[in-house]
Amino acid sequence: MDLRFSDLAGLRKALDSGMVSAVELAQDYLEAIAKDQHGVVLAVNPEASLAQARAAQTQIDAHQAGPLTGLPLLHKDIFVTKGWATTAGSKMLENYQSPFDAEVVERLSKAGMVTLGKASCDEFAMGSANQHCAYGPCTNPWDESRIPGGSSGGSAAAVAAGLAPAATGTDTGGSVRQPAAMCGITGIKPTYGRVSRWGMVAYASSLDQAGAMARTAQDCAWLLNAMAGFDPKDSTSLERPSEDFSRLFGQPMKEATDSQPLKGLKIGLPKQFFGPGLSSEVRTVVDSATAQLQALGAVVLEVDLPRTELSIPAYYVIAPAEASSNLSRFDGVRYGHRTQEASDLETLYRRSRTEGFGLEVQRRILIGAFVLSHGYYDAYYLQAQKVRRLIAQDFQVAFQGCDLILGPVAPTVAWPIAQMDSQDPMTEYLADIYTLGASLAGLPAMSVPCGFVAADAPSARRLPVGLQLIGPQFQEAQLLAVAHAYQQATDWHYQTPEKES
Ligand code: GLN
Repeated sequence: MDLRFSDLAGLRKALDSGMVSAVELAQDYLEAIAKDQHGVVLAVNPEASLAQARAAQTQIDAHQAGPLTGLPLLHKDIFVTKGWATTAGSKMLENYQSPFDAEVVERLSKAGMVTLGKASCDEFAMGSANQHCAYGPCTNPWDESRIPGGSSGGSAAAVAAGLAPAATGTDTGGSVRQPAAMCGITGIKPTYGRVSRWGMVAYASSLDQAGAMARTAQDCAWLLNAMAGFDPKDSTSLERPSEDFSRLFGQPMKEATDSQPLKGLKIGLPKQFFGPGLSSEVRTVVDSATAQLQALGAVVLEVDLPRTELSIPAYYVIAPAEASSNLSRFDGVRYGHRTQEASDLETLYRRSRTEGFGLEVQRRILIGAFVLSHGYYDAYYLQAQKVRRLIAQDFQVAFQGCDLILGPVAPTVAWPIAQMDSQDPMTEYLADIYTLGASLAGLPAMSVPCGFVAADAPSARRLPVGLQLIGPQFQEAQLLAVAHAYQQATDWHYQTPEKES
């Protein structure tokens, strides 16, 4: 039996029953990774993976396994790892070996998980299509002529293609949710501050948040259980009592019957998420998912997020501003690639940064430096911060009338690789419209597979659609419980591109 497309819960049973060992499981995935044609994985270290798998198996044999012991995963190449090179998808960090593990990596390893390698991503997590990786683009396993989404495209494509049952991702403006949607898997971005940023190569620090990507909401809850928690090494880490993120699974909402587990749940649909720009095919799929949630007992009402459109300019000022500051450390002296051709210090800085950074990263640094510069600070940066505050307030008002917000993750399904012109970055930025708000407001949000759209000829393949659920601060457990109830009633999350042919 091929376990590669199993969820973590299924793999747990297989390991505990002795049907497969942690070492065999890791070997299986590593073999699949070696044959991969999607550009998903940037680095492997089979020796290190198998050593972790052997240690996990010893625990399983001694009946000391935790829920994640022996389960394999990939880490987005934004998390630093001791045994695997970390590049952040950039030439700037080519062959970089971190002397320590990111907090997320360390927590998941301590929980017994086996690291399979590092997943491709957009350079420094800047992008929505995983086409801005210095080591080559990544493609979508559902249709190789299309993007997998980004920036955590490698993580999402890996789970979809059966190269790993789970992966870490990071989400600054949608990078967990959007690739999860485009590859047909489940992904959650927790509340800002829930998961430590220690050891995550920084993009925009006030927005960056690590998230979990897997086949099911149940799997994401298990991963989050291990990932979340206060970390004194991250100054924005939140001190919260530890929680079990799957504790609300199967719990009736209010006066629920068995067939209506979501009875009493109020779901808000922002009208701005269903306006012009949303593809009619995606809309049809999201509408039927909404109807399914209603059939499970939820009540649907309209809410207002009046500044949704402004989330694009606000985000694309704030994120580049923070990026320009975070990336200043890569100067060829303190960190990163150093040019071989420089006769003086200024040329050394200039050439090192020109050679090390890709075009999109350079563009963001320039925008960021501009909006922070004297004379433009008030007009752009300060203004964007005010808009950010108003967007967060809009969500607070909306949540006075509903328990969670529902909408599409992205306006379209995965687009053809050739479609986006790198000369016109705006088109790609605009596609982030539905994910940026939750990021600016620091709210937990997830993507849940909810159906397919048939691609145009000639490929005529099915392309996955993601349903976005956004919750109030700290309501991850409820988001996951709703997603779980939906997944109990549907099987979109178990469809795989392998089963296509
Ligand atoms: N697409 C957005 C950007 O390019 C979001 C990326 C992310 O969340 N890391 O900045």
